Amino acid sequence: MEFPITDLLSREQCTQWIVEHFHPNGFGCKHCGATLEQARKFRTTYRSQLTVYRCRRCDQTYNLYTGTLLEQHHLRPEQVVLFLRGILKGESSKTLAAELSLSYKTVLTLRHQFQDRAQQLQPDDPLPDAETETDEMFQNAGEKRNRAL
Ligand SMILES: [Zn+2]
Repeated sequence: MEFPITDLLSREQCTQWIVEHFHPNGFGCKHCGATLEQARKFRTTYRSQLTVYRCRRCDQTYNLYTGTLLEQHHLRPEQVVLFLRGILKGESSKTLAAELSLSYKTVLTLRHQFQDRAQQLQPDDPLPDAETETDEMFQNAGEKRNRAL
């Protein structure tokens, strides 16, 4: 069932969640590192309805998505939170597109970009013993399933 849930979420809380998760070292100018307090509100984007800030130090503009995978996709903050929740829960791209009023292509493109980024962030170090055993357990489970076929 598709449920129009985006209208029920708070814009401010979703924005705050994105700041915490996409800008853990603080949200500010991506060009020179100045803080948000050193910027002025410049305009609001049409589709994503984001505030665009103009940095008083370097005169460049930026918004909540600048320097992230969300840049250029025009999602509203509520759509971002629900999109990420959906892909983590394994929702189909078709369902997510319908529920979040996004094109199927946008959902698919963003999903692949986030999955690629997550893959890149996997540590190169070997896992500690306890986690290796868990990993081996899944490998063994897969081998047994293959043998039964
Ligand atoms: Zn700046």
